[in-house]
Amino acid sequence: MTTLAELRRAVCDLHAELVRYGLVAWTAGNVSGRLPGTDRFVIKPSGVSYDDLTPESIVVCDLDGGLVEGELAPSSDTAAHAYVYRHRPDVGGVVHTHSTYATAWAARAEPIPCVLTMIADEFGGEIPVGPFALIGDDSIGRGIVETLRGSRSRAVLMAAHGPFTVGRDARDAVKAAVMLEDVARTVHVARQLGEPAAIAPADVTSLFERYQNVYGQNITDVEGQEPT
Ligand SMILES: [Zn+2]
Repeated sequence: MTTLAELRRAVCDLHAELVRYGLVAWTAGNVSGRLPGTDRFVIKPSGVSYDDLTPESIVVCDLDGGLVEGELAPSSDTAAHAYVYRHRPDVGGVVHTHSTYATAWAARAEPIPCVLTMIADEFGGEIPVGPFALIGDDSIGRGIVETLRGSRSRAVLMAAHGPFTVGRDARDAVKAAVMLEDVARTVHVARQLGEPAAIAPADVTSLFERYQNVYGQNITDVEGQEPT
């Protein structure tokens, strides 16, 4: 069972992954994680540079986004994270960035088509676009939840804003953010010389189910796949 101290450490360390993979500029990106079995989650404090984050600086919030524990104000995106946790009990982690290529698709309000096996594996279909929503109330969170309803995707491109990703835990949501930016870039590059063909829906389902079932299995059962 994850303790609060372990979760704060993990979420603190995961912010360094956003930097490592080039997903964030200045302080514009945040990771949160639900404390399993509770109505609490932890999230980055607002305006603190990634180099200055410590486990102790990661703040604890309730599912309404209210500050429960911490010296600093929570991220300005906390209401959106809280809305997702309230409405998606299966979600244990949420990530938001303005990573360049994913945000470029969001700027055009264009879904990323499922033209790569990696997109089928990770997202189970195209990566959808959510509505334009102003920061400060529930509208971003509602847009994320409603857009992902009925989709297998762990990522949504909020129009004229940028990507939000969800996962089983914070690490899984960070992985989705990294993979999203990678496929957003690759499909963008592919398009420079033509229109890539969509993978047939039956093949998308087959790829997605095979890949998702890798989780939790013995590595020797599935050749060529690494557990994550
Ligand atoms: Zn943002």
